[in-house]
Amino acid sequence: RKPSAEEFKRQHMDPDSPPNSRPTYCNRMMRRQGMTKGSCKRVNTFVHESWATVKAICSQRQMTCKTTRRNNCHKSSSTLHITECRLKGSSKYPNCDYTTTDSQKHIIIACDGNPYVPVHFDASE
Ligand code: 5GP
Repeated sequence: RKPSAEEFKRQHMDPDSPPNSRPTYCNRMMRRQGMTKGSCKRVNTFVHESWATVKAICSQRQMTCKTTRRNNCHKSSSTLHITECRLKGSSKYPNCDYTTTDSQKHIIIACDGNPYVPVHFDASE
């Protein structure tokens, strides 16, 4: 399936909730946003910023994507509020059990299309 901005929003955008380290956040959000169907997605980041802020990263510093090696990744010039969800080693599908970690980091995303918009989350640092 071709990555799209709609897919990026579903998997990575949570602009309306503040960064939130309640331990149940990831278990609830990973399920609600469809990332625990068929298997438990292992690592996923939610961004607590507006779509305008995230879209603007597509015109910030360009770099090679870690996962695809394509040259359409961009690193945010500022740090953003994010929550990283990571599957616990003890988790067994269909009970996808995640750790929830808040932070403020630069994010690296891939952008594509016309208009040129976020389509893939590459990394945070
Ligand atoms: P690990 O720390 O398990 O070796 O690797 C996790 C990697 O996944 C890190 O490079 C991290 O930046 C990246 N990562 C974090 N959130 C996401 C996400 O939502 N999607 C993808 N594809 N990678 C992510």
